[in-house]
Formats: sequence, structure tokens, C-alpha cells
Amino acid sequence: MKNYRGIYMYEHAVDNEQIKIGVMGGTFDPIHYGHLAAAEAARVEFGLRKVIFMPAGSPPHKWLKEISDAEHRYRMTVLAISSNSGFEVSRLEVDKSGISYTIDTMKQLKKTYGEASDIYFIIGADTVMELLTWHKIGELLTLCKFIAVTRPGFNSRKMEQMIEEISSKYNEEIICLEVPLLEISSTDIRERIKNGRSVKYLLPEEVEAYIHEKGLYKE
Ligand code: ATP
Ligand code: MG
Repeated sequence: MKNYRGIYMYEHAVDNEQIKIGVMGGTFDPIHYGHLAAAEAARVEFGLRKVIFMPAGSPPHKWLKEISDAEHRYRMTVLAISSNSGFEVSRLEVDKSGISYTIDTMKQLKKTYGEASDIYFIIGADTVMELLTWHKIGELLTLCKFIAVTRPGFNSRKMEQMIEEISSKYNEEIICLEVPLLEISSTDIRERIKNGRSVKYLLPEEVEAYIHEKGLYKE
């Protein structure tokens, strides 16, 4: 079901059909080629029917962390994935006020795609290091499989050690995947725009045009 704002994921799963769905969560402020290349690598490697990009909702207290309006981040994500029929964007977290817990998002996705569906949550090496602090991580590990992808600037050895620690603590497997190492971060892109430096080839042109049109990250 497509519309001008992107593609809704509220299609109904066929009962008992085993489907493999990838989820890439993030603030996407803005989305860049690091996210897209990692998601594509996971999609192909694990034969995922699709990867759903899940932009996080905006925090209720903006002063906690300056993050762009959820609608901007959502629209940039829609623009970024439009050329890949294996990618979708979800409004699930954007439409909730405040921060959503991943566990609630996963429960919702399981309802949508059926309990038998396999959900693969794709996370970068930096996120792996924070995983133990996540809300209800033990239960979350039973609900979905995690794919941990390499990221420049974050030691893969340390990532593997952390994965071992988490796996043995909860007796759940976390999959490691080497993806093209793109040294791109949203933080760097925001800095560059603020300082009038080029961001060409770091993110899709449509996203760059949107940023300039809306005057994002200038301050
Ligand atoms: P910020 O600098 O604002 O934190 P970011 O570039 O880290 O932005 P996020 O939206 O925080 O992007 O990341 C979403 C997910 O994508 C995280 O799990 C993160 O680890 C992963 N990710 C981001 N950039 C890359 C990259 N270049 N390579 C691999 N994974 C990445
Ligand atoms: Mg980040």
C-alpha cells in the first residue's frame, strides 16, 4: 500500500507463512549511505523479504538531545529508500508521542506479520555496546534476532566480545555481519552542513536537496 508519504507496513500477513523481515532503527538525522549499505547487505545476506526503516519518534523533552522533528526525519528516510523496492519506511514510532521502546515496536511488528515471522533487527557496532542497557533486553532477544554490523571507528573485536557476553548471559544468538565500511555518521553530516562544507556522496542527493530546502542543521 503506497502513498505519497511512503509505504505503509500495515499489510496483513498470510497466516502461518514464515516471513523474514529486517528492521533498521535509528534517529536518521539525517539518513546516510552508511545506513543504506548496511541494510542492503543484511537484506541480501539473509534473504529478507524487506527491510523496514524505523525512524525513532521525537523525545518529549527536546532539551535532552537536539534532534530534528520526526516528520523531517521520516520524509528524508522516504526519499532515501525510494529507489530500492526491498526497503520500506514505517511511521510506527514517529506517530507515537515520546520515545518508543524497541520491545513494543517488535511486539507490534509480530502482530502485523504473524507470530511465526522472523524479525531481524539490524544494529551497528556502536549500538551493540549499549544493548545491555536496553529496556527488557532479555525479552527482546527472544522476540527478534539481532544482526550486528561492522562500523568504522568501532572496534570489531570489542563488538564480538560484547556479543559473546550478551549471548552467554541470555542464551540467545546475535549474528555478526561484515558490511562495506563507510565512515559516515549523521553527526558528521550535521557538522558539515553547519560549517558550509560539502556532504555530496555521503547521502542520497534527494536527502541533501531536502535538507537545503528546509534549512536543516544550519544552526
Ligand atoms: P548520530 O551520529 O546522530 O548518532 P548515526 O550516523 O550514528 O547518527 P543513527 O541513526 O544513530 O546514525 O544509527 C542508526 C543505526 O545505524 C545504529 O544502529 C548505528 O549503529 C547504525 N549505523 C549508523 N551509521 C552506520 C555506518 N556508517 N555503518 C554501519 N552502521 C551504521
Ligand atoms: Mg548513532
